[in-house]
Amino acid sequence: SIPLGFFGGIGAASRNGILVKGSNFLEALNDVKVVVFDKTGTLTKGQFSVTGNYPAEGFTPQELLRIAAYAESHSSHPIAESIRSAYGEVIPGEAVTDYNEISGHGIAVTVEGKAVLAGNARLMEREGIASQIPQQSGTVVHIAVDKQYAGYIVIADEVKEDAQRAIQELNALGIRKTVMLTGDAASVAESVGRQLGIQEIHAELLPGDKVEAIERLEREKGPKEKIIFVGDGINDTPVLARADVGIAMGGLGSDAAIEAADIVIMTDEPSKIAAAIGIAKRTRTIVW
Ligand code: ADP
Ligand code: MG
Repeated sequence: SIPLGFFGGIGAASRNGILVKGSNFLEALNDVKVVVFDKTGTLTKGQFSVTGNYPAEGFTPQELLRIAAYAESHSSHPIAESIRSAYGEVIPGEAVTDYNEISGHGIAVTVEGKAVLAGNARLMEREGIASQIPQQSGTVVHIAVDKQYAGYIVIADEVKEDAQRAIQELNALGIRKTVMLTGDAASVAESVGRQLGIQEIHAELLPGDKVEAIERLEREKGPKEKIIFVGDGINDTPVLARADVGIAMGGLGSDAAIEAADIVIMTDEPSKIAAAIGIAKRTRTIVW
């Protein structure tokens, strides 16, 4: 038989904008000792704004931004959306062909017949293009046109106000460790992690590295302990599926993330994780 209290717990959660896909996941929250966060869109707003534009010789800032926006025209990544909105003009569909998104790297695409790359230093390295070392801190998108380096654009995201509260509340609930996993640069990851007081930071990870990191944390944990992963589903759906309890941010998150997750937070507030654990603890008290 199913204890009635579980339905009460799931109901209480849903009234708080927390969708729990089964009583087993609510039960598992009682034993969570490690909470692992994705950075972009989870701890940060995922709404970048362009803060720097550094064209290489032969390009103007306007041209660099236009090429970047065209390259990013088909991507749903928060980086892409910010570059398109900074450009602000309509992008003719026929200008962009052979679109390829390279997860954890960026975009390879043909723009007006030219081979364009837009992404991180790892993408440039992989394609044998020497990129400049950025003069400004932030998330950097390097651009190359027909194998020639065209410059870079710097974008910055903001930490969610609610993220600070989330970490404090998790600590108060007796969580042993908070961890951040990100594909972004170490400098950006460390600055966000320091602001929030996150204990362990792993940066410059490919989507597969994030799965490995979760598997390692699972090997390190105690026999009854559970691990939560919280993400927005952009490049982290496999991690959502792999964690003991996968939690997706429902507002920003993709359909695939909502599908892969065990719990969906409709409001995108990371502090709802502490609220969910609180509800799980009260539900257990009522059941037994
Ligand atoms: P995060 O772990 O921060 O959510 P992702 O795994 O989604 O990051 O991406 C990792 C890195 O790959 C980004 O920080 C960026 O450097 C690069 N990248 C991914 N997608 C794009 C894109 N559409 N345009 C440019 N760069 C991208
Ligand atoms: Mg992400």
